[in-house]
Amino acid sequence: MQANLRVLRAIIAVRARAGEFVLTASPARPARLSCALQKDLIYGKSMLTGSCLCGAVAYEVDAEPAPFVHCHCQTCRKTHGSAFSSVMPVPRAAFRWVRGDELLAAFESSPGKFRRFCTRCGSHIMAERIAQPNVLLRMGCLDTPVAGPARAHIWRSDAASWYDPKDATPELPEAAASPPPAR
Ligand SMILES: [Zn+2]
Ligand SMILES: [Zn+2]
Repeated sequence: MQANLRVLRAIIAVRARAGEFVLTASPARPARLSCALQKDLIYGKSMLTGSCLCGAVAYEVDAEPAPFVHCHCQTCRKTHGSAFSSVMPVPRAAFRWVRGDELLAAFESSPGKFRRFCTRCGSHIMAERIAQPNVLLRMGCLDTPVAGPARAHIWRSDAASWYDPKDATPELPEAAASPPPAR
């Protein structure tokens, strides 16, 4: 028990220093922590957070990261202006907007499928079919680091001709210093 308390105190100290919360306690009135809070402090709260490019819209999900895919369908490519969209399903009941939902608009890309985006900056943040139990996070807007790799590339039959995940493409830590050589 004493060892458990020592571990708990150490975790509290680290997380308080990181600015996650403020504890006020004195020898006369020690801080009392609920069992739920102790569990959160020890194991960490499973939460995913995300936001749009301008930061006006943000969400939280009380869930662990789920297996995700890279979707190469033409609708995703045009929606995001990119080779593919990385998509993570999360339970609808665990998802909530925390700010800026009044700035959202949606494009109904197929009947009943709403792709929701920030009207200020254009970021596509999530998509959903209202009757389904999951919503689909657009992972480019995730702020929580999650581990890869993806489960699969999907809709390769519809993919851009100029990108193949099997290609060995040079990787640079930042932007290219000079244009690629002319052919
Ligand atoms: Zn925005
Ligand atoms: Zn797609």
